Amino acid sequence: MMETPMRRPLIAGNWKMYKTAAQTKEYINQLKTMVSSSTKVDVALAPPFPALEAAVRAAADSPIVIAAQNVFWEKEGAYTGEVSAPMLHDLGVELVIIGHSERRQYFGETDETVNRRVKAAVSNGLRPLVCIGETLDQREAGLTFSVLETQLKDGLAGVDQGAAEKLILAYEPIWAIGTGRTATTEIAQEAHQFIRNQLTGLFDKKLANTIRILYGGSVKPENTADLLAQTDVDGALVGGASLKVDVFYKIVDIGGR
Ligand code: PEP
Repeated sequence: MMETPMRRPLIAGNWKMYKTAAQTKEYINQLKTMVSSSTKVDVALAPPFPALEAAVRAAADSPIVIAAQNVFWEKEGAYTGEVSAPMLHDLGVELVIIGHSERRQYFGETDETVNRRVKAAVSNGLRPLVCIGETLDQREAGLTFSVLETQLKDGLAGVDQGAAEKLILAYEPIWAIGTGRTATTEIAQEAHQFIRNQLTGLFDKKLANTIRILYGGSVKPENTADLLAQTDVDGALVGGASLKVDVFYKIVDIGGR
C-alpha cells in the first residue's frame, strides 16, 4: 500500500544580515495581520541575532515561528562572539538554520561543524534547518548527487531517529542563491527525491517521508507555485524575497493553496 506522507509546507524567511530590532518588530506586526491560524503553511522568520528578542516578542500569540541563522555547539564558555543553543532556546527561538552556503563559503563551515551544531540544537530543544547544495562547478562536473550524499552523511552522522524527527532540510543549489537564477522544477524535484532516498538510508522510509525538504534559491511569488507542486518540495527557504513583508506574504499565501 502507498504511504501518504503528511508534510505540512513550511515557508521560512532568511533575512541574512538585514534589519534592526525596530524594523523586525514593524515587519512582524504587519505579517501577523496577514497570517492567521487558518494559514495552511507553517511560517518561520530568521532575523539576525540582535533582533531575535524583538522578533520573539512581536510573534507571540501568532503562528509565526522565530529562527536563528546559526548556533555554536558548546553550551557556554570562552568562545568570544558565539551564541549557544540554550541561549537561543531561552529567548524563545524554536528553529535554527545550520550550514547555510554563505556560512560554508565565508566562515569555514564544514559538514563536521554542521554535525556538531545539529546535535547541539536538538539536544537543547531547537529544530535544525540544515542547508545543503552544490556549486555550479560541481553541478557541471556531474557531482551534484555525490556532494549531496556527503553533506547528508557527514552533516547528519550520529543523529538518531529521535533527533531526526526534529530535522528540516533545505536544498539550496548555490548557483541559485541570490542570483535570480532559480532551479527548474525538474532539477529541484530530482534533487529533493535524491535527498529523501538518502534520508531513507540514514533513517528509515517512514521517518524520511515525514522530514520536510525545503527548496531555496531565488524563490519569489512568481515561481513558488510550480516549485511547491513538486512531490518532494515541502516548502521554501526564502532569502531576498523575504525582506519585504508583502512579497513574503504572497509566497506564504501561494504556498498554502
Ligand atoms: C537563502 O538565503 O537561503 C536564499 C535562498 O536566498 P535567495 O532567496 O535570495 O536566493
